[in-house]
Amino acid sequence: MAKTVIIEETGGPENLKLVECDVGDPGPGEIRISHKACGLNYIDVYQRSGLYPLQLPHALGMEAAGIVEAVGEGVTHLKEGDRAAYAAQPPGAYCEARVMPAAQVCPLPDAVSFEDAASIMLQGLTVEYLFHRVWPLEKGAEVLFHAAAGGVGLLACQWAKSEGIRLIGTAGTDAKCKLALDMGAAECINYRDTDFVPAVKELTGDKGVDVVMDGVGKDTFDKSLDCLKPLGMMMSFGNASGPVEPVSLLTLAAKGSLKVSRTTLFTFLADHARCQDMARHLFDKMASGAVKANIGQTFPLEEITEAHRQLEGRKTTGSTILTL
Ligand code: NDP
Repeated sequence: MAKTVIIEETGGPENLKLVECDVGDPGPGEIRISHKACGLNYIDVYQRSGLYPLQLPHALGMEAAGIVEAVGEGVTHLKEGDRAAYAAQPPGAYCEARVMPAAQVCPLPDAVSFEDAASIMLQGLTVEYLFHRVWPLEKGAEVLFHAAAGGVGLLACQWAKSEGIRLIGTAGTDAKCKLALDMGAAECINYRDTDFVPAVKELTGDKGVDVVMDGVGKDTFDKSLDCLKPLGMMMSFGNASGPVEPVSLLTLAAKGSLKVSRTTLFTFLADHARCQDMARHLFDKMASGAVKANIGQTFPLEEITEAHRQLEGRKTTGSTILTL
C-alpha cells in the first residue's frame, strides 16, 4: 500500500484527498518506482480544477524522482535499484510508490539529488523544448518571458543566459523581479504596477522582441502580441490566469505577420528517444553549472492542500516539491 493523493471531484484545493492505494506489480513496458520526492506543477491545478479534464476518481501529480523497484517485460533502459526521475503521463505522481509506463522515466545521474530532480524534470524539460524545439532561437535573440520568477521562469532565466539570449522577464512583485534578475534575466518588469508593452518597447529601442514565452495566458496574451517584432513568434504554453480567448488569424497578419504556437510538453516527450535526449540535455546543463534547481518551497505530502493554495495564490517562487 502507498499513500496517494487523489481527487474524486474537481474543484478547489480542499478536494485533494490522501488515501492508501494498492501498488501492484509492473506489466509489460512498466516499472514500479518508490518515490523520494515529487514535484508540484501548474498543470496539477488545471487537472484538479477541471480545466484539463480527467476521468474521476484520479490520482494527481506529473513528476517525481525515486528508485526503481521492479521492471516489467521489455523495459531495457532501467533496472531494479536504478535512480530515476520523470515528467510523465498519466497523472499519479503525488504518492509514495506507483506502477507506471517506463518509456518517459529517465535514468537519474548520481550528481542530481532526488529533490532537485523532482523539482526540475517537468519545468526544465519545458524550458528545453521552448528554447530548442519550437522555433530556432539564436544567440542574441530577445525573449519576453512572463512569470519569470516561477518554476519554469527561473529555469528559463538561467537557460537564456547560458545560451546568450537576452531574456526580459515579467513578475508580480519587485522581490520576484530581483530573483529573476539574480538568476539571469537581463531585465524584469513588475507587470502589476507597470504596463509591460511600453516597457518592452523602451527596453528594445522600440523594436520589440523576437519571441514571447507566455505561461500566464488570458491576462497577458493580447498585449504580448504588441511586444513582438514583425514576423515574431508567440509561444503560448499555459493558463495560470485563465485560458486564452480565441484569436483571429487576421489579427496576427495586422500585427506584423506573427506566428503563434500552443505547445504541451507531453507531445515532445511522447517519443521515447526524444524524451531521453531532452533529459540528457537538461542534466548536462545542470552538470555544467549553467542551470540549477530552484526549490522555493517544500511541503510534506500530507500538506498537499496548502501547497496548491500557495501555488494558485501566486505565493510561490521557483519550484515546489513534496517530500515523503
Ligand atoms: P509558476 O511557478 O510560474 O506559477 C504561476 C505564476 O503565474 C504565478 O506565480 C504568478 O507569478 C503568475 N500568474 C500571473 N497571473 C496569475 C493568476 N491570475 N493566478 C495565478 N498565477 C498567476 O508555475 P509553473 O512554473 O508550474 O508553470 C508556469 C506556467 O507554465 C503555467 O501556466 C503552466 O501551466 C505552464 N506550463 C506549461 C507547459 C507546457 O508544456 N505547455 C509545461 C510546464 C508548465 P507572478 O506573481 O510573478 O505573476
